[in-house]
Formats: sequence, C-alpha cells, structure tokens
Amino acid sequence: MKQQRQYFYFIGLVILATLFTQGVIHYYIWLKKNDSRVVNVAGRQRMLSQKVAKLSLQINTAKDPIDLQNELTVVLNEWEEKHWGLFYRNKELKLSGKNSPEILNLFEQIKAPYTNILSNARQMTTPRDSSQLTKLLEVVLANEAPFLSGMNAIVNQYEKDSDEKIIRLQWIASFMGLLIVLLVTAELFLLIQPMFKKLLEREATLTQKNEELTQQKELISLQNQNLQIAKEKAETAAYTKSRFLSNMSHEIRTPMNAIMGMLHLLIEDKPRVDQKDHLDTMLFSAENLLVIIDDILDFSKIEAGKMTFEKRAFSLTEVIQQIHKSLLPKASQKNLVFQIDQANNIPDSLIGDQTRLSQVLLNLLNNGIKFTEAGSVLLQIKILDRTAQEIKLRFTIKDTGIGIPPEKQELIFESFSQADDGTTRVHGGTGLGLAITKRLLEMQGAEIQLKSQVNQGSQFSFALTFPIGQQAKGQLSKQGKALKNAVLPKLGKILVVEDNLFNIKVLEKMFSLWKVEMDLAENGAQALEQIKNNDYSLVLMDLQMPVMDGYRTTEIIRSWPAVKYQQLPIIALSASAMEEFRQRAFAVGMNDYITKPFIPKELFQTIERYASVDL
Ligand code: ADP
Repeated sequence: MKQQRQYFYFIGLVILATLFTQGVIHYYIWLKKNDSRVVNVAGRQRMLSQKVAKLSLQINTAKDPIDLQNELTVVLNEWEEKHWGLFYRNKELKLSGKNSPEILNLFEQIKAPYTNILSNARQMTTPRDSSQLTKLLEVVLANEAPFLSGMNAIVNQYEKDSDEKIIRLQWIASFMGLLIVLLVTAELFLLIQPMFKKLLEREATLTQKNEELTQQKELISLQNQNLQIAKEKAETAAYTKSRFLSNMSHEIRTPMNAIMGMLHLLIEDKPRVDQKDHLDTMLFSAENLLVIIDDILDFSKIEAGKMTFEKRAFSLTEVIQQIHKSLLPKASQKNLVFQIDQANNIPDSLIGDQTRLSQVLLNLLNNGIKFTEAGSVLLQIKILDRTAQEIKLRFTIKDTGIGIPPEKQELIFESFSQADDGTTRVHGGTGLGLAITKRLLEMQGAEIQLKSQVNQGSQFSFALTFPIGQQAKGQLSKQGKALKNAVLPKLGKILVVEDNLFNIKVLEKMFSLWKVEMDLAENGAQALEQIKNNDYSLVLMDLQMPVMDGYRTTEIIRSWPAVKYQQLPIIALSASAMEEFRQRAFAVGMNDYITKPFIPKELFQTIERYASVDL
C-alpha cells in the first residue's frame, strides 16, 4: 500500500519535471525569436542611420531637394521610433524583455551622437540655404561614425546577452533531462525492483503453497479413503444394528404372541372378577411392551434409512373410525371428551400409507389422552387445498392437558427425551414416539408444529398431501362381531403352517372357540403334501420355518396349474413388522398379512373376510 503511494508520487514528479522542461523549451524558443527580432531592429537602426547620412548628403547637393527631404522625414521618423522602441523595448514593435545594464550603458554612450544626428538632419528636411545645409551636414556626418560604432556595440551586446540567456536555458533543460533520467532510474531501483523482487518472492511462496496444497490434497484423499472405510464400517454397523433389532423384536414378538394369545383366551374364558382384573393389567402391560418393541424397531429402521412408505388406496374415514374406536375406552376411563372433527367433503379413497398415518395419529392422540387429566382431546381434519388429482389435509391434535414448557418444546422431538423426567414413572413411554412421528412426517415432506402452554394444553399439527384414489375400498368396513360365541360362517378346514408350539396352542384354542377345524403342518414341505391331499378353505402360513419357509411354499402352491391353488386364500402370519417382509409376502402371492402377536379380533375379521369367498 505504502509502496503504491510512493510509486504514484514518483510518477507525479516525473510528469511535473517533464512539463517543466517543456515550458523551458517553449520559453527558449520564444526568447530566441524575440532576441533575434531585437538584433534585427538594432541592425536596421544602423542601416537607417547610414540612410540618413546618405540622404543628408544628397539634399546638400541637389537642386530641388523636396522629395529627398520628404524621404528623409520618413526615414527619420522610423529611425526615431525604432531607437526608442529599442530603448524601452516597445511591446507594439514586438520587442519584449528588458535591456541589460550593459545595453543601457551603451545607449547612454550613443545618446549624444543620436540627438545630434536627429536634430541636425531634421533641420535639413525644411528649405535652407546651402551654407546652412552644409553646416548641418557636417554635424550629421561627424556624429555618424560614433553612432555606428555605438550601435555595433549594442548589436554585439544584444547577441551576447541572448547567447548567455540561451546557454542558461540549455543548462536548465539539460538539468531537467538529467533529473528525469535520475527520477526514472531511482524509481526503477527503489520501487520497481523491490516490487519485482516481491513478485518473485510471491511466486516462490505460491509455488511452495501449491506444493503444500498438493500434499494436503493427497492427505485428504488418504483421509477420504479412511473415511470411506469408516463409513462402510459404520453402515455395516448400522445394518447389523438394524438387523439385530429386527431379529430381536422378532424373537420377542414370538413369545409375546403366545402370552397375548393366552391372555385373550383367558379373558374370554369367564375368569373370576379379581382374575379378570389381573388379566386386564397383564394384557395392558403386554400391549405396552409391544408398542415399545415396535417403536424401537421403527426407530432403527428410520436410522438405517430403511423406512419405506406404501402407496395404496385407503379410506380415511375408516382409518379415523378405527382410531376413534381403539382410543375411546382409554379416554372414557379418564372421563375425557374424545372428539373427531373431520371435514365432510374429503374424498373417501386416498392413496398413501395408511399404517404410518394411523401410527402418527395414534401416537399424538395417545399422548394427548396420556397427558390430559380433565377436559378434552380433539382430532380435527381440514382441507387446505384440493385439485382433481390430490388433496392437502391439515391434521390438528388438541388437548387440554398439562402442556409443555417452551424450553422443552424442541427437546421432546429428540429421541429418548421426555419433557419431564418423572414422566416415565407416571406415564411410562420411551420418549421415542414423537421422534418417530416427526421423522415419519418429515420423510413424507411434512413438518410437525407444536403450540403449547403449561396447564392449558397442547396442539400438534401437520399437513399431508394425498393423491385421490379411484374407488373407496371397504377394507375396514366390516365391523367385527363380538367374539364371544362367534362362529365363522361356512368355513371349511383351515391349515395352520407353524413351527412354534406356543403359537400353535393359542391358535388351537381360538379355533376351537370359534368352532373351526384345523390341521397342522410344521413346515412348508409338510404343508405342500397336506394341501395336495386335502381341500382347505384357508391357509395360515408362518414365514420363517425350518426346511421350507412360507415364501417358497406359497410360490410352489401358486405355481400349481389347478385354479383352486390360485384361489386358495393364504394369509401370512409373521412376527416381523418390517415392511420388506410384508411386501415380499404379497409379491409371492399371499392374500393378506397378520403380524404376531395378533389380536384375536383382528385374526377373526381377516379369516371372516376370506371365508365369504366362494371356492
Ligand atoms: P413418550 O413415549 O414418553 O410418550 P414421546 O416422544 O411421545 O414419548 O413424548 C415425549 C415427551 O413429550 C413426553 O414424555 C411428554 O413429556 C411430552 N409430551 C408429548 N405429548 C404431550 C402432550 N400432548 N402433552 C404434554 N406433554 C406431552
């Protein structure tokens, strides 16, 4: 910065010096012109004085001197004018400048001859007698020589003065030229050279930096490789974790199935009032345990990036009715008003993932009921936007419960976090519900919003867009009958393909209650044999079994040519809630999918649905 300024100063100086030199040169030219004019006039003055002498001579000898006298007057006028012009450096005669003291001295010396010549010659311009003229002429001629030598000295002095001035100017000009050269050289050395040096240094630093960068790049690429390896390891770890969780939940679900199945049977089996109470508590705990397992599984699926969403037609009204039905008992137990306010012009068939929608709504409504001691819990569904192809709905879940303090409102969406540390003791829960809900909504492009005030209540809301389906599917429309003494209509024998003894026991009990005949196969291979030799109205097929699994078995059955094997209802019974298993089951040709532990009512309804199909 400083150097830049110096550089400009230098340039400024060089320009000034150049301009000054230019001025000197112009002055030099002007002076030269002026001086030569002065020398010229002085020369002419000499010549005029000679002309005066000559005319005076001619007048003296002429018979008729009138013309000569007139001419002499003109010459004298000019002579006089030029004389004083030179003396005073008359500007009108373009004689600028000043006479030097030497010149003035010389003028002083010719003053007498000049005045003598002038006054005597003037007298000769008027008529006189010849003796007078002769006298006058003598004076003129006598002064001519001193005047001429005086004028010569003046001309010489003029030339000398001019030469001196010009030499001085030449000196100045040369000095300026030298100064410019010096300035430029100094600039070259003092500024340009260091700048150049700096540039070279900079280039050297850049080259060095470049080398360092190349080294760093290599290091980064090495680190990248390491990162890649670490990423792969992490992915494998995540996959292993998700696999482990999936297997674990499968392992837990299988015995849970037996526990819950037996509990349902015991409750149905006219227990004593005190026993019924204990059984209800056990069932409640078992259901809670199942929710926790499902949450952990869902969470691990989201973390592993394995969560997928179905795009199937469903009836929103039926989903909502189902939710209402399942939560109403809990709400009523706490004397809460539980209300659904659904806009009535929502199309009946929407396309999307009904299970995930139910999960989100159930979670938010469950929380609403859980954290509200008095008042109401409300689910509101409004239309935000609608086109011929799709509809955007806003779901709002409002409660009048304990509310969430502002500083906790972000935290509760984190995994394993609860607004109040005492929550687990009072209400249970893992702190995963909202984290899952938020992620499930985010994955469908929706954002969950929360407004809450402590002791006033909470309001969760989100907006989802659904494509509008073709027709309303009445999947959920068949309401279950009371199970007690329920009998499945015109249903033939059922084949249960299952290897777990407890599950078999639960199913045997249930079927005997519903008066349904059943056969048993312990694996797929056995099942194929039995299906060939019997006419079953329905097959309940476990998926994971020794010898031959449920998928392969179903594929083989469906590959048999007879139409009855294409139409035979095969329902998957699986302990895995993973979507990929479900999709695979449908892909190999199964008709439906029930997750263990199954709720007896759900199993009953599913079988009932297929029982009415004419074989
Ligand atoms: P949990 O399994 O503990 O219910 P969630 O993720 O569903 O886990 O909820 C996290 C926490 O957020 C809850 O423990 C509770 O403190 C708070 N919370 C959630 N919903 C509500 C609500 N409607 N009213 C008050 N607090 C709530």
